[in-house]
Amino acid sequence: MTDSPIVVAKFGGTSVADAAAMRRSADIVLADPQARLVVLSASAGVTNLLVSLSEGLGHGDRVDKIETLRAIQYRIVDQLKQPEAIRQQIDNLLESVSQLAGQAAGQRSPALTDALVSHGELMSSLLFVDILRERGAHSQWFDVRDVMLTSDDFGQAQPVVDAIARRAVTQLQPATARAIVVTQGFIGRDAAGRTTTLGRGGSDYTAALLGEALGACRVDIWTDVAGIYTTDPRIVPSARRIDSISFDEASEMATFGAKVLHPATLLPAVRKDIPVFVGSSKQPAAGGTLVCRQATNPPRYRALAVRRKQTLLRLHSLDMLHACGFLADIFALLARHNITVDLVTTSEVSLALTLDTTGSTAGQDNLLSPALLAELNTRCNVEVEQELALITLIGNRLSRSSGVCDAVFSPLGNDNIRLICYGASDHNLCFLVPGDAADGVIKTLHRHLFE
Ligand code: ASP
Ligand code: MG
Repeated sequence: MTDSPIVVAKFGGTSVADAAAMRRSADIVLADPQARLVVLSASAGVTNLLVSLSEGLGHGDRVDKIETLRAIQYRIVDQLKQPEAIRQQIDNLLESVSQLAGQAAGQRSPALTDALVSHGELMSSLLFVDILRERGAHSQWFDVRDVMLTSDDFGQAQPVVDAIARRAVTQLQPATARAIVVTQGFIGRDAAGRTTTLGRGGSDYTAALLGEALGACRVDIWTDVAGIYTTDPRIVPSARRIDSISFDEASEMATFGAKVLHPATLLPAVRKDIPVFVGSSKQPAAGGTLVCRQATNPPRYRALAVRRKQTLLRLHSLDMLHACGFLADIFALLARHNITVDLVTTSEVSLALTLDTTGSTAGQDNLLSPALLAELNTRCNVEVEQELALITLIGNRLSRSSGVCDAVFSPLGNDNIRLICYGASDHNLCFLVPGDAADGVIKTLHRHLFE
């Protein structure tokens, strides 16, 4: 239709939860002639149902869950003017869900889980094509797996960026010139042709990867909040919306638990300098947050984020004293067990670290396997503390400004701080507190630093 750069519009689960939400989202797409590529999550609740189906349920539970899924999708189908053809397609996909869930009841596997959960995005994207067509738009369904080549790390697959760019230019770009293309977030395919997923919440990442591949001029992330806030408004109702924020600050926020963007989303945007807009599909007129290379007047204190359910591992060994290679040995061991270390502090004979457990569909609850603990125990004393919360202050020039520690820690006089990381990044200061203290700490700090 046009040679001008496109906008990628991504809609999250609540923005495609039902027919009314889908129609609001369609209106947003149609209001912007540059929005030629639509990336969708599964309808709200669907991915969780599919994940539970992958966990090997008994027959009765499987039937119940599949009927719940059918009800969510039929509520949308029933609102369409010509529901017959699409109902058949949804039925076919649910039949495939049922078969895969039956297999999972026999033997679970991460590959099977990904094959199963991919059905949520396949269904929502089919439905959305019809919603757009009813609005008179020329719209086309596209199987994102044809371009989204990934590694075979099921549950948390890594995109192969070069191949995605090549395929997107030959297969996806021509389609966006002819029609509004509707595709799936979150899912991909490995070199052997098996379906993969990019990790929970990965649809944002898909949108950014496709935006990068197609040289988009903007990626719009439509969700259920009108932008990025100084902290989670459910904890602090007076939290303020941030109108413009830099890639650096927003990446820190996503990494440290602000739920607005999938942590990897900004990587492609940074590589290609593509601004990312975050807004609410319920209130598009309310505006949102623009994430871009440089924010206007970056403040010293930008936002507070919290990440819950953190595990602290403390390792203590006299062998560490003046030793060479102790840390290298421990990190190599953790790497062999596929553990991503998040924060680290060390003293002469002790090492404290937290583990990164950010969402994957592959069961990650027991990162600390007995085998890992046994191996660690041969090298040092191991202490594990669970149910901690990581609080992060995001800002600018933090480690180069004086008075930051005083401003943060003096209001928290009575809280038990378990670990502090400060100085590695100019953009954050983070610390662990007991999980049940987290909300109180956020409220206190927001009052002192942001109000
Ligand atoms: N539907 C997937 C999830 O719930 C991906 C996404 O929504 O971004 O994690
Ligand atoms: Mg989502």
